Amino acid sequence: VTARVLNSGMRLPPLPTIRELVKLYKLQAMKQLSQNFLMDERLTDKIVKSAGRIDPRDIVLEVGPGPGGITRSILRRQPQRLILVEKDRRFGETLQLLRECASPLDMQVDIYYDDILRFNIEQHIPDTTQRIHLIGNLPFSISTRLLINWYADLAARRGAFRRNDTCMTLTFQKEVAERICAPVGSEQRCRLSVMSQIWTEPVMKFIIPGKAFVPKPQVDVGVVKLIPLKQPKTQLPFSLVERVVRHIFSMRQKYCRRGYGTLLPPDSREETTQTLFQRADVRDTLRSFELSVPQCLRLADAYAEYIKEHPEVEAYDYRGPKNPDVSGAAAASS
Ligand code: SAM
Repeated sequence: VTARVLNSGMRLPPLPTIRELVKLYKLQAMKQLSQNFLMDERLTDKIVKSAGRIDPRDIVLEVGPGPGGITRSILRRQPQRLILVEKDRRFGETLQLLRECASPLDMQVDIYYDDILRFNIEQHIPDTTQRIHLIGNLPFSISTRLLINWYADLAARRGAFRRNDTCMTLTFQKEVAERICAPVGSEQRCRLSVMSQIWTEPVMKFIIPGKAFVPKPQVDVGVVKLIPLKQPKTQLPFSLVERVVRHIFSMRQKYCRRGYGTLLPPDSREETTQTLFQRADVRDTLRSFELSVPQCLRLADAYAEYIKEHPEVEAYDYRGPKNPDVSGAAAASS
């Protein structure tokens, strides 16, 4: 394997290329872990550059470093500490190599072989004096779930979001990236757009063509930076907002009152829906993709007020086994 010096940002000691390491350690991509590797140093540098300024005292947490392409680009920006969370232990040797390069340069690299969906960030970063950057070329299979988990943490100011300056710089399938950033009325506007824009300002940074990855995925990839809003747009609990937005978008092409109405039991659904739309000052014949974030939040406020007055409604689930709507429909189709 030929060694060479990496030539952008700070210099790391001579290292084999990622392509060479993947070949040397026979690191064949595993489909079940959504592995698509980036070998092009200019692209990995560009992803890390999208994260903005990384100060010497900052901590970076990289999700799924794999063979370490983005990891090298992060190390060239010299954070004090880099935390790597990788599910696949086969990358042990390549990541260990990077750790050894970083150590004499006073950078601490902590490697955890764990599932990021279960990884306890507070436990590994107990104090809040240092800024955290979350960076990752995410596995497609978990990207949306991880993002929703992080929004829940953001709303509750816990985990990586105990400070309000933790930015996320992440990759998604291009269509998912477009949905995250989609404005009101656009074709891609969906639940994920509203959920993303309630707690963050998502910025589409650039698109990476599928052919830049090994193996090549079916789709292109979008790099999105999600900047937490300094002033959250709502103080309502995350679970309530998530529930209301999910119902609103459950019938995306229909009048928004249809999906919203399924939050409410059928006996008084029509009138209550109408009342709550009036209280929220939202026209109930808009389609869900035409609703702005403030309109969705006013509908969530109206629902929150209503369940305060009628606590029994909170537990109502229109798909539940005791629900006459569904059991009726099931009986009709059986
Ligand atoms: N960062 C590398 C790159 O850009 O070349 C690899 C990116 S690859 C798309 C996704 C990486 O996430 C893989 O290394 C995979 O093993 C890892 N991964 C998959 N599921 C994970 C999980 N639940 N938690 C942590 N890492 C995971």
